[in-house]
Amino acid sequence: MVKEVYQAILERIILYGVELWYRNGIKMNMKLLQILRYPPLSITKAYRTTSNEALQVLSGCIPIDLKAQMLCELDLKLRGVSDGSVSSGIDFELEEKIIPWEVFRINWSLYKNMCSFFSVFTDGSRMNGRIGGAYVIYYGNDEIDFSLFRLSDNSSVFMAEAFAISKAVDEIIFRKMEYVDLITDSRSTLMSLHSLKEKRRFINNIKRKIANYNGRINLKWVKAHEGTMGNERADFLAKSAIDKEEIDICFGETKSEIKLLAKNKMIQCWQDRWNSSKKGKVTRSFFSKVCLNRVKGDFYLNQIFTGHGIFRTHQSRFFNKSIGCQCGRGVGDITHVLLFCHLWKDKRDKLNIKAGTSLKYLMRWEKFQVFCRFVIQSLLNLELN
Ligand SMILES: [Zn+2]
Repeated sequence: MVKEVYQAILERIILYGVELWYRNGIKMNMKLLQILRYPPLSITKAYRTTSNEALQVLSGCIPIDLKAQMLCELDLKLRGVSDGSVSSGIDFELEEKIIPWEVFRINWSLYKNMCSFFSVFTDGSRMNGRIGGAYVIYYGNDEIDFSLFRLSDNSSVFMAEAFAISKAVDEIIFRKMEYVDLITDSRSTLMSLHSLKEKRRFINNIKRKIANYNGRINLKWVKAHEGTMGNERADFLAKSAIDKEEIDICFGETKSEIKLLAKNKMIQCWQDRWNSSKKGKVTRSFFSKVCLNRVKGDFYLNQIFTGHGIFRTHQSRFFNKSIGCQCGRGVGDITHVLLFCHLWKDKRDKLNIKAGTSLKYLMRWEKFQVFCRFVIQSLLNLELN
């Protein structure tokens, strides 16, 4: 809950207009991290002495300076795409404004049988990271022609489906076919052709071509992998297109692709920072990988995950206490207290822990977590009395 509030409100307020004011410098980054020390602290309910690095990993809150850097780079890149200076290839997401009275939809229906005139089946497909598309033309039941094309690897299947339909429509117009069924198994493409809110120029161009054509193009949907002859054939052709050496059509990077890359890069930076951090050693032994979804908000368990808490090793470092365990038989560190200390032997024995099981592994086990909470609570009581 605290994390949601933090991300929805505080982080947004602080990062507002970040593209304008942020400069990547040590001073600014330190300041940002200082301001934002408290949310991860209250999300995790960890001890105040815990390092920022450990708090960020436990709460799943990325260091704010990395987020600021990412937003700035993203802003630059996306502006580059909009003005065309970065991207090469067709911009599939390029949007256009359409006057309200020029908005229309293309209807579609369910495919039943091959008609006695022309039927054109289209398909798009992804395999082994490559993307292909195809259309195949029938007259009655006879295949009379086909075309297949490989798209740049960054394209989506949706883009391949839409491109195949676009190419098929061009071919229909070129051949002046008067009455045609145009059949696809891509519901999402048909939906966007049917939508009144569609803004992508690429899709709207298909709509316009179909609507302005003198002949008649009937859009139809067929369920994939149901053994429909034309659909199977188009699927086969689209998959064969993938084996082509050369790319026939190149689409530019899409916005979602750019965003995903930026996010992955940001997380990788965080991971690198975590790997080489001099702080948070204990936390790293439990969580070597950073993750945005993690929320460890347990006051008791986090004392184990951070090493900051009631354990004597921590108490002696920060509060000038003896390092010896309350049992008087060893150093009061996490391993001793949880796995060996005889004060908690009875409770521990009930868990039947196999000798040599690592703490990291045990901490994932709910029954062991209950035991840990009990031990820490008891230690707190002992320290207070
Ligand atoms: Zn002990």
